[in-house]
Amino acid sequence: MTLTGIDVHVHIHDAKARALQGPEAVRKFEEKARYFKREAKHLSVEDQAEQYRSRNMMAVLVNGRDETVTGLTPLPNDFVAETVQRFPDVFMGMGAIDPWTGELARREIVRIKEMGLVGIGELNPARQHFYPNDRRFYPLWEEAERQGLVVLFHSGYAAAGSGTPGGGGVKLKYCQPLLLDDVAADFPDLKIICAHPSWPWTAESLAIARHKPNFYIDLSGWSPKYFPPELVQQVNSVIPHKALFGSDAPSLPLDRWLADFEQLPLKPEVRQQIMLDNALKVFGLEEPST
Ligand SMILES: [Zn+2]
Repeated sequence: MTLTGIDVHVHIHDAKARALQGPEAVRKFEEKARYFKREAKHLSVEDQAEQYRSRNMMAVLVNGRDETVTGLTPLPNDFVAETVQRFPDVFMGMGAIDPWTGELARREIVRIKEMGLVGIGELNPARQHFYPNDRRFYPLWEEAERQGLVVLFHSGYAAAGSGTPGGGGVKLKYCQPLLLDDVAADFPDLKIICAHPSWPWTAESLAIARHKPNFYIDLSGWSPKYFPPELVQQVNSVIPHKALFGSDAPSLPLDRWLADFEQLPLKPEVRQQIMLDNALKVFGLEEPST
């Protein structure tokens, strides 16, 4: 089998996982689905594995937590690790941390590595209410760098809380990509993935991707049809080695992302870099050629 792609940004919507988190997590999930006028569907990890296997693709499962801010019970990282172990041909995984838990979060990073996961994410500063470049959190990025774990941050507009009173307490200012530029500068061996097109700060993430070798962007969460033109233009010219295939599935269905990505005016070699080569490099699955 020839691997055709690695989706670096995939969420777990398995009913078993949701049940572990309790009714409030289910309510938030349904609220978000309502806002985006779609069905709040569960998708088993078995079905999800099959979606990728049938396309000769792999997927990186991400996890999130924000208990300090919301009080919501997080999905244990063990669920992600067990899922990866069940489907090692298809899945890799990332573990979640709540930065406000300090030393506990640092130890969880060590445990994430021990469990065989490849990164930390999705960190969501808008939901977790923290500035990634606040020095109080530097011990976490230092540990991640030491463990060789990739760190994936949500950036830009947040679907979470959209259209609800007060945006559900979600604060967009924390998700400005420029905050991650400090982290990329201060931890040059830490690989950072800045998720989504980062709107309304798209130009910032493009500039940082061009400037910092350890800073990547993923193209998840938006249908490629609606990508800002500057994103498509720069990925196709100056930063083809820095953009990663990511869908944000199942919120944005995988087949829709792939079909719309097909329509973008990208050079064939750039397409190949985005779909596979860049991810192989980020996750150390092959020796970098440059
Ligand atoms: Zn996100």
